[in-house]
Amino acid sequence: MSRRGLIAGNWKMNCTVAEATALTAELRRLLAPIRHVDFMVAPPYTALWPVAQRLEGSHVILAGQELYPEAQGAFTGAVNGDMLAEVGCGAVLVGHSERRQLFGETLDSSRLRLRAALAAGLTPVLCVGETLDERRAQRTMEVVGQQVEAAIDGVDGSELAKIVIAYEPVWAIGTGEVATPGQAQEVHGAIRERIRSRGSELAEGMRILYGGSVKPDNAAALMGQADIDGALVGGASLKAESFAAIARAYPSK
Ligand code: PEP
Repeated sequence: MSRRGLIAGNWKMNCTVAEATALTAELRRLLAPIRHVDFMVAPPYTALWPVAQRLEGSHVILAGQELYPEAQGAFTGAVNGDMLAEVGCGAVLVGHSERRQLFGETLDSSRLRLRAALAAGLTPVLCVGETLDERRAQRTMEVVGQQVEAAIDGVDGSELAKIVIAYEPVWAIGTGEVATPGQAQEVHGAIRERIRSRGSELAEGMRILYGGSVKPDNAAALMGQADIDGALVGGASLKAESFAAIARAYPSK
């Protein structure tokens, strides 16, 4: 089965509204002719609505960077899935390693967030990945497997078909150090095998992105791997030209 590539940009805590709207205008111009992949951008909360307005009619999906898995109430600082959907989001990141490391998110909280995203009609982009110590201890498959299993526990096949997984080795995020195409493919293949236990068609259709210091000059080799269906891009997504160059590098498979 051929899967359509997806190039997603995580803007993290960058961009004022003015900067985000300028970046969006530039992205619209550069991405318009690139039709062989899908696009997603995840601006900070404050820029979601203005960016949504400027993306109207484009083929770029808007995503939140995080959601809180409660309907409403006394949760200061939190935003739920319906709120994200209301301002135009079609997707949301779940379990990004910065959320796990800096904000105390756990295996259990990623499961709750993934379910809340699905309930709000959002595509969850489930981020998983091992630390350097875990890789050195040869625990990569165990850690990544546990993160995937915990998040999708109890989610049925038809819902599971809506999710995207991003394998992002923690040691490669924002460090300039990138997994080799072979290292990344090995983990992507293992994730797909794990999903296969829930159904072969499901596994073949699931998009699994690589994230961690993806740049225009390493994107083609990574995304050329059989089980790598695109990229989740942090730093290089803040420049429209480098984000577009990564998308152009997505090979026909
Ligand atoms: C990320 O934050 O998801 C990411 C992959 O960041 P970077 O591309 O900057 O490593």
